[in-house]
Amino acid sequence: MSAPHPLEVPLLTRRLHQAGYDGSLAAYRAGGGYRQFERAVTSLTPDQVTDMIKDSGLRGRGGAGFATGLKWSFMPKESVKPHYLLVNADESEPGTFKDRLLMERDPHLVVEGAAIAAYAIRARQVYVYVRGEYRHPRACMDRAIAEARADGLLGRNLFGTPYSLEMHTHPGAGAYICGEETALMESLEGKRGHPRPKPPFPAGFGAWGMPTTINNVETVATAPVILEMGALEYRKHGTPNSPGTFLVGVSGHVKRPGVYELPLGIPARAVIDEVCGGVRGGRRLKAFYVGGSSTGLLPAQHADVPLDHDSVRKLGVMLGTGGLVVMDESACIVRATMVLADFYDHETCGQCSQCRVGMEWCYQIIRRIELGQGQPDDVATLLDLIENFAGGKTICAFADGAAMPYRTAIQAFRAEWDEHVRRGGCPFAQSGERALEAVHA
Ligand code: SF4
Repeated sequence: MSAPHPLEVPLLTRRLHQAGYDGSLAAYRAGGGYRQFERAVTSLTPDQVTDMIKDSGLRGRGGAGFATGLKWSFMPKESVKPHYLLVNADESEPGTFKDRLLMERDPHLVVEGAAIAAYAIRARQVYVYVRGEYRHPRACMDRAIAEARADGLLGRNLFGTPYSLEMHTHPGAGAYICGEETALMESLEGKRGHPRPKPPFPAGFGAWGMPTTINNVETVATAPVILEMGALEYRKHGTPNSPGTFLVGVSGHVKRPGVYELPLGIPARAVIDEVCGGVRGGRRLKAFYVGGSSTGLLPAQHADVPLDHDSVRKLGVMLGTGGLVVMDESACIVRATMVLADFYDHETCGQCSQCRVGMEWCYQIIRRIELGQGQPDDVATLLDLIENFAGGKTICAFADGAAMPYRTAIQAFRAEWDEHVRRGGCPFAQSGERALEAVHA
């Protein structure tokens, strides 16, 4: 990576900006790597580590934004059952590709972070569940785990203490739904990746029925940073309710797409115009998916929104996984939504009839609108369909996640949908491919 942009705050990614850094164990340790894990195991109790993460205000980077330290504190303290840490590396959200960077370029940061998290929740086994298509990131993680084990950083009686820890990767098989934490556990157990009803929650009844915590890759990778710099120092970045930095993966119609580590609360416009060099081709910004497709779409007039959990929620969208997808004025919103509808229709697990049938109907209706066969009532029917599967009516949050891009695209660009129906075709026919480019980028 080149030198960081002046707006970047490289905490997790600082090593990646160093010339010649290769992510090996030697390079990682030369920069102080694994000292925080050793310090935790030799001089801190699990509860002290958890309290440091609580004090930092770290919120999960996997989409929901739940308080990480609080989640760790849900794990039973006196249980004689085995505890498990599952690292969710099933990065499949359209527009999101930041965990891949960490696993490929600094896998030991992920290993050390997972080790610290495991110690804090009293786990002796970690499974890193890696998206099936991520063969190279998984190979990088496997290599790092093997190096750590060979160097005595994993295994029995670590640092001369009674604490022992093992870590393994486990590949997914290409299903988006396995990124949902209960589906991930089912898949890890060798079963079909179907989400489980909650409760019971994983901290009480998780993988193999044992107490389990599931954390995103970036979330655990932040733990060594917080232990090293201290919770108060970490809180100096970001906003009071969304402290720290987050990895933003920017794709679509910008001049410099990529992954950037930025303080939470940075305005979307600063990310697009300053960090990424603006919209490419001299065109104007039309809209952007805030943090992956399931978080919703905002039109350009909201580009000054600070990217933190509370600010984006006020606009009816979510911060999600930091996958900012930018569309310029030549992109067709209906076509972009059609691409996503095809995706959600393909990825529903089918357990809930509202979701299974709703995804297919949405795709069929959006497709016919885009292809010029829309009926006058189609947009109203779409909104009615969305209300039938959104709002916590299903086993997992997939249906609500799919509703976000549909609902927000209709709310913000209703005239464009009506225009498709009225004229019997896509007004962006010459340039609609650009919407596909943005969503697939
Ligand atoms: Fe499966 Fe959809 Fe129900 Fe989730 S909401 S369990 S993805 S059918």
